[in-house]
Amino acid sequence: MINIILFGPPGSGKGTQSEKLIEKYNFRHLSTGDLLRSEIAAKKPLGIEAKSFMDKGQLVPDSIVIGMISSVLDANPQAKGFLFDGFPRTKAQSQALDALLKDKHTEISLFLALEVSEDELVKRLLNRGLTSGRSDDVNEEIIRARIIEYENKTMVVADYYKQYNKVVTIKGEGSINEIFSSLCHEIDKKMPL
Ligand code: AMP
Repeated sequence: MINIILFGPPGSGKGTQSEKLIEKYNFRHLSTGDLLRSEIAAKKPLGIEAKSFMDKGQLVPDSIVIGMISSVLDANPQAKGFLFDGFPRTKAQSQALDALLKDKHTEISLFLALEVSEDELVKRLLNRGLTSGRSDDVNEEIIRARIIEYENKTMVVADYYKQYNKVVTIKGEGSINEIFSSLCHEIDKKMPL
């Protein structure tokens, strides 16, 4: 079983690359942002609670996202591997994920970190806001708040996985296909022959 974390700031291309990766490798895609947006669309209590944080560009409390991830892991015992997109975003989430995977006798195989400059992130997110229908992509102030949350709370997650030598940094600027091949190159090294 291969479990991958696709890491990077908002707008670094995690969603776009995840779609291509799950198609190629058949991983089970686990995006906490997508899961939260479905909870909101279904007007579930969890979604209503999460929305107030998401609308401000703030992280949703750890207990909410960890609970969601735990349910999806339990619901997919046959998965060949998971691709985590937008999770973990705090050290507490990383520790919780490690414990959940350990219970299932597996672990994170690779942590792929996409690197993109801040100017490029803001440009991409505002552009995405024209079509994504996401209220948190339209307003530059909320976009900046999301980047600040990333710098203050999420960047430490890379340090957490560095101690286990699982981190590989990938340049997240260039064509979608160039970035995709760099990611595949690293994943293929971890694939059983
Ligand atoms: P994303 O779709 O990954 O850009 O996430 C959109 C928003 O959902 C974020 O700005 C957070 O408010 C919330 N969110 C998504 N994933 C997480 C997470 N792992 N921890 C906390 N909040 C999250």
